[in-house]
Amino acid sequence: MIATALSIAGSDPSGGAGIQADLKAFSARGVYGMTALTALTAQNTQGVSGVHLVPPSFVADQIASIFDDIRVDAVKIGMIANADIAAAVADALHSHKDVPIVLDPVMIAKGGHPLLEPEAMEMVRTRLLPLAHMLTPNLPEAAALLGQTEAKTRDEMLAQGKALLALGPKAILMKGGHLDSEESPDLLVTEDGVSWFEAERINTVNTHGTGCTLSAALAAELAKEKDPAAAVAAAKSYLAGAVAMADDLNVGSHNKDKTG
Ligand code: PLP
Repeated sequence: MIATALSIAGSDPSGGAGIQADLKAFSARGVYGMTALTALTAQNTQGVSGVHLVPPSFVADQIASIFDDIRVDAVKIGMIANADIAAAVADALHSHKDVPIVLDPVMIAKGGHPLLEPEAMEMVRTRLLPLAHMLTPNLPEAAALLGQTEAKTRDEMLAQGKALLALGPKAILMKGGHLDSEESPDLLVTEDGVSWFEAERINTVNTHGTGCTLSAALAAELAKEKDPAAAVAAAKSYLAGAVAMADDLNVGSHNKDKTG
């Protein structure tokens, strides 16, 4: 029987991030993918030019229609946009707390466009974090959730990972890509202990959607009943392969100089 995963997230029409990236990751990891849309964005590899939100009650309707009919083995939550959508998602998932939920606390697109209203932070912290089986913040997102300054060292990453664990998620994957370092280490923090995942930094401009892809791959691995550490190892290895191939894609006008 094939495992299934549901992405509750925004649309990226350029196919690099959002639900489009999630569905690609689900398929690549051998999982049947489903989606509940929170927002439409108009964007390409240059950035986001517009956002159109889905009414919160309709986000809830989409989630309910899936759970009413189809077995869901894991959920990934991405772009949540505002407090009302966060509350609707929390309400809709309340009776499905046993399903592994990966929460990617998407806040700002790499181009700088906000994807979460600052007023929604409290709702994400109090309603969504406690539902998460795995929270996957990058360092700016971890700092924003804690109201602290961004971690600059591994010790600070560890301290913030433990502080986030105290807010209710079962596991925290602190993504160290923003460290000023040759390496890009990630840190998994659970009740049972901590483990570092070491990785070389890959030099490419094609990193749009890497966060979405990692969290979707994690949901896929959890859907297949991997434990958190095995899920992180498998998802990171899949993402590293995708990023290593990214320059061959030649998608987007920033790649034009390579085609001549
Ligand atoms: N657009 C949508 C709909 C997303 O869900 C995300 C994911 O985080 C992004 C854009 C951000 O993409 P990036 O910051 O990787 O460019």
